Amino acid sequence: MAYATVNPYTNEIVKQYDNSTPDEIEQTLANAYNLYKSMRDDPVAPRAKILHKLSQIFIKDAEQLAKPLVEDMGKLYNEALGEVAICADIAEYYAANAERLLAPESVQTLSGQAQILNRPYGVLMAVEPWNFPYYQIMRVFAPYFAAGNPMVLKHAANTPGSALAFEAAVEKAGAPVGSFKNLFLSYDQVADVIADPRIQGVCLTGSERGGKAVAAEAGKNLKKSTMELGGNDAFIVLDDANMDEVEKVSAAARLYNCGQVCTSSKRFIVTEKNYDRFIKNLAEQFANVKMGDPMDPTTTLAPMCTEKNKNKLQKQVDEAIAAGAKVYYGNEPVDLDGQFFQPTILTDITKDNPAYYQEMFGPVAQVYKVKDEAAAIELANDSHLGLGGIVYSGDAQHGAEVAAKIETGMMFVNTFLSTLPEIPFGGIKMSGYGRELGDECIYSFVNRELVVKNPDPEGKLPENKFGGLVAPALLPQD
Ligand code: NAP
Repeated sequence: MAYATVNPYTNEIVKQYDNSTPDEIEQTLANAYNLYKSMRDDPVAPRAKILHKLSQIFIKDAEQLAKPLVEDMGKLYNEALGEVAICADIAEYYAANAERLLAPESVQTLSGQAQILNRPYGVLMAVEPWNFPYYQIMRVFAPYFAAGNPMVLKHAANTPGSALAFEAAVEKAGAPVGSFKNLFLSYDQVADVIADPRIQGVCLTGSERGGKAVAAEAGKNLKKSTMELGGNDAFIVLDDANMDEVEKVSAAARLYNCGQVCTSSKRFIVTEKNYDRFIKNLAEQFANVKMGDPMDPTTTLAPMCTEKNKNKLQKQVDEAIAAGAKVYYGNEPVDLDGQFFQPTILTDITKDNPAYYQEMFGPVAQVYKVKDEAAAIELANDSHLGLGGIVYSGDAQHGAEVAAKIETGMMFVNTFLSTLPEIPFGGIKMSGYGRELGDECIYSFVNRELVVKNPDPEGKLPENKFGGLVAPALLPQD
């Protein structure tokens, strides 16, 4: 059975789930499509009200909602509460702003009075990963539902409990049947759903491998897609960086969510001047983590999400070492039953080392020493991924200038990389395409329908500046 909650702290199989049947899939698509048709002419306000209610549920039921995150993937309870909080904020942001964002826009043209309407796009298929099991869904559900698009979800195989809890919260918020439905789909069933004519768009967050497979299905069927994929983000420390401030952020930038964040700082790039201090401090912070029960508030490092992912990370580390990388700290077995991985620091990673271009999805930091700022920028950009990044500089303006030279989707200067509803999230290169969150994402899945009205009451055709017809190719030639 592919879908199961296996608690990574206790290794207990909590619950297994059968794949969805063809009848369940058909019923889900029919409900979603019928809802799309019935609400496509509705105003935004009733959906905004549902999102407001959903936000309140995420606040009121926060403790109850946090628990499936801990059980499904071993997330620290405190971090789970943080994820629930950002979900409430995202739902509220689109509840408060969708009407404004989706209002028709007017354009005066030679052809007459044009309006661009923001009409619903249709039923969407969302494919989401396990590392932020609610946040990833809320990022796509809130804006796209506000725009009038029902959603079918295929969640990660190891987070079925969270998928069902999210679905229950949407139902409790009063969303009509068909608004949001989780299905336990095999990869083949995902392909079939994407091919179904009732599906109009596809959004995926996940790995490059998953993204390529799902984007190929979307492309084959000419369905619009957005892809939020992996990252190998640089954390650049320049000569003039305030090292006290760097040290407040550096370990958390790698270890938050047990290092399983697309925008974790995976490559620390430090100029010679600060290198020795930086790496010594990072190792001290890594040595001070407390691994243990994710529900215990004193635990600071959670287990990894699955045994499979832990083994994959160990294999990457072993291969890196075999290819010449040095272990500065860590890489010792952890004497606990859960899927714990000791925080590890690798250095001396050369360009021919497989680790150089790999995303290591867990608590492993690569640290690079560079001569100067120019070398730091060059190394940061030597990646086929481009999602986020951090720069520390004594002069924030200069830091921002360096940030602008990094080929990536999001940069943060002298601060932790954060995600908030009002700022767009997404990358370039193999980190995917499209943006989630912010104002612009809502237009990913709306029909920007153009309606042009001839202003002349008798329907006289508009003329261009030489007395001819406007855009004659589209009008009768006489
Ligand atoms: P993944 O293996 O690509 O899985 C993501 C989702 O895609 C899961 O639901 C998975 O289902 C599904 N999937 C994978 N291959 C598929 C296929 N051929 N057909 C249909 N569905 C398929 O990624 P992951 O390991 O769960 O997540 C970690 C990755 O996500 C990392 O690379 C991380 O950087 C990235 N990520 C990116 C962002 C962002 O915003 N850019 C945010 C978070 C995470 P199964 O679970 O059943 O395999």
